[in-house]
Amino acid sequence: RLYIKMSNKDPEIKLILLGESGVGKTSLIKRITDQDFNENEASSLSMTYTLKEIVKNHRTIKLNIWDTIGQEQYRSIAKLFLNDTKIVILVYSILSENSFKELDYWYNLCVENLGPNITLGIIGNKADLFLDQQVSEEEGKEYADKHKALFGLFSAKDEGYKGQINMFVNELLKRYLIKEDPTFQDNDEDNNKI
Ligand code: GDP
Ligand code: MG
Repeated sequence: RLYIKMSNKDPEIKLILLGESGVGKTSLIKRITDQDFNENEASSLSMTYTLKEIVKNHRTIKLNIWDTIGQEQYRSIAKLFLNDTKIVILVYSILSENSFKELDYWYNLCVENLGPNITLGIIGNKADLFLDQQVSEEEGKEYADKHKALFGLFSAKDEGYKGQINMFVNELLKRYLIKEDPTFQDNDEDNNKI
């Protein structure tokens, strides 16, 4: 609907990454927005967003990608920062059982504030350190299936995953657009490398 009716204005879509502090949300966003990975990524001190423009069917879609600092204190203002979110990516680290368990917290927060009809992705990050993994790929997949979410196992550190990470975001965007308008067809398969 949004896609069809806003014919004079490029659609803007809010995407947010949520998950325990340190799982790699900021690092993943850097891969999505063509910035370099930084080994000593400073913890984000506030909410920020980066704009990513994606062309689909000759229309420019403005994807506003929101980073969070993943702290409990934000629960009180969750309604504010989640407001108008269309796509949610929950992130855990495959090295941290706790970050995986915390997905429930973030999932519930989203459902409380956005309703059950969110377009959802789940990323198990730090796949480059699979020898030390605490969460198996099967556990991640199972969790994603249960919540009808798209699942990805990536590394924000290893540049080789950049294409897969961007395809993941692209697929989520497509799912969202189809939800909004079931007649939506992606005619720009060659053109939507984001
Ligand atoms: P955030 O708190 O969720 O935003 O996490 P950051 O993006 O700040 O990353 C936390 C730490 O993990 C930083 O030291 C990153 O360099 C590191 N990191 C992030 N992603 C990866 C990854 O895929 N592999 C490895 N080995 N380290 C990562
Ligand atoms: Mg961060």
